[in-house]
Amino acid sequence: MRWTRSLLATLRDDPQEAEIASHKLMVRAGLLRKLTGGLYTFMPLGLRALHKVTQIVREEMDRAGAQEILMPALQPAELWERSGRLATMGPGMFRLKDRAERLMALGPTHEEVVTELMSGEINSYRQLPCIVYQVQTKFRDEIRPRFGLMRAKEFIMKDAYSFDTSLEAADSSYQAMYDAYVRIFKRCGLKAQPVEADTGTIGGNHSHEFMVLAPSGEDGILYCPACSYAANQERAERQTDGSPYTASAGSPTEIATPGAHTVEEAAAAVGVKPEQIAKSLVYLADGKPILAVVQGTREINECKLRRFLGCTMLTLADDEATVKAVGAPFGSIGPVGVSIPVYADIGLKGAKDVVTGANKDGFHLAHVSMEDDVKVTAWADLATVVAGDHCPHCGKPLTLERGIEVGHVFKLGTKYTKSFEANYLTDKGQNELMVMGCYGIGVTRTLQAVVEQSHDDDGIIWPISVAPYAVTILLLDPKDEKVSAIAEQLERDLEARGLDVFMDDREERPGVKFKDADLIGCPIRVVVGAKGLAKGGVEVKLRTSKNVEIVPVESAADAIADQAAALKEAL
Ligand SMILES: [Zn+2]
Repeated sequence: MRWTRSLLATLRDDPQEAEIASHKLMVRAGLLRKLTGGLYTFMPLGLRALHKVTQIVREEMDRAGAQEILMPALQPAELWERSGRLATMGPGMFRLKDRAERLMALGPTHEEVVTELMSGEINSYRQLPCIVYQVQTKFRDEIRPRFGLMRAKEFIMKDAYSFDTSLEAADSSYQAMYDAYVRIFKRCGLKAQPVEADTGTIGGNHSHEFMVLAPSGEDGILYCPACSYAANQERAERQTDGSPYTASAGSPTEIATPGAHTVEEAAAAVGVKPEQIAKSLVYLADGKPILAVVQGTREINECKLRRFLGCTMLTLADDEATVKAVGAPFGSIGPVGVSIPVYADIGLKGAKDVVTGANKDGFHLAHVSMEDDVKVTAWADLATVVAGDHCPHCGKPLTLERGIEVGHVFKLGTKYTKSFEANYLTDKGQNELMVMGCYGIGVTRTLQAVVEQSHDDDGIIWPISVAPYAVTILLLDPKDEKVSAIAEQLERDLEARGLDVFMDDREERPGVKFKDADLIGCPIRVVVGAKGLAKGGVEVKLRTSKNVEIVPVESAADAIADQAAALKEAL
């Protein structure tokens, strides 16, 4: 492809709304154009890179035995009613009505559609296991679309679904997909770390996310350098010795703390450290009030609390519901003497002298024993784990890193097959529910994650496997027929060796061409110009290196093809 014939324009300035490097670079390099918030057009170079990611995904899915299908993006909402997710998906799901007033959804995911499909297609254990996948546009009505393709309203996903006869058989499908994901991200040149993850609204009981480590990532990852435990902060667990405040100082004593509502204010008013406060919050778990308690310096982790309670909806109670549940508003709540269930974090275990709200506006209780004065329904690990907490496996301190989620694999069990009566006949002629797994890769997000992980101040540094073009030829003297002829012959020779080539044949100063080549970031840059030819050949340079090599014209195509092969090999 020649620049002069392509729909490519690079930009000198960063787009105003772009906050992270990959978003800025993809727009500046002419790969993406914004339609409106969260909606982007893939320009020719961007689409080429996207197709390469998609191709890798397809090859690895096929290799793992999955079969490609394509389901409708537009789905009847009644399917979501049957799974019980119409309510839990909330406003993030695009809903619309067709002309017959039938409620429809633009699919954010396809568990419902695929389970409905398979309930009709699969009858016998002989047809199992079965894994299907699709590469498709998905929709999510993000409150705040940002970071380009990272959090868009419309995006391309590869979603796969496995159907098996038993939990054990489903485990091998899960492992096959997990292994395929490891290969996919590696082939895309990404360092992706699998971490234990929360299952969220998808459901199921076991899942891993594949995280690309990047300071701009929206997810926190707790990592143990000693034993390699890794988990999303939404899910991460910890070991704790319990509370340091184990010496009793008498019975609960009411202290007036007018105007003290935050942990810091209460600690100052009572004269203790914030760690000695036991912070309480009222939640509605599927509509029923419960009280959760953690140390004042910690945050309650709503994902962990929801999972522990086994509820679908968990929301922080508003002031009215809080007063109704415990008799006092937010800021004065405490676990002593309440009639609703109390769930206490394990960090408070053994505490005999902590300060809590008194369930009376403007008062706190000092010298509260969590063991003796509070009727704890259950102790659980409910706090958000932070850097320095102890690894749940080996007890060593955890570190906190940031990551971009590019893939997610779930064991779903029979959650969906039950709703859709997706049965099969066993070899003994019995009717059993199929066991499911689901597996997603954000394809468009993966592409941007490559850029986020691989760039420098000058631009993108594409891994050769997903680069829009493997080679960019900078034709420095396009008006010189002899030089042009050499560049064009080299282009043909490289294409004959299976390499895709982009030629910058514009009438521009060399400096402009060098800058644009670095910005777009194709892995191999070849400069063909009268000056270089006089010195003995063409200049070959890798985007990752500063070394420029002069290669004689006759051997240039072979030398470049060898370099490309070495780059592929290194992935
Ligand atoms: Zn560990």
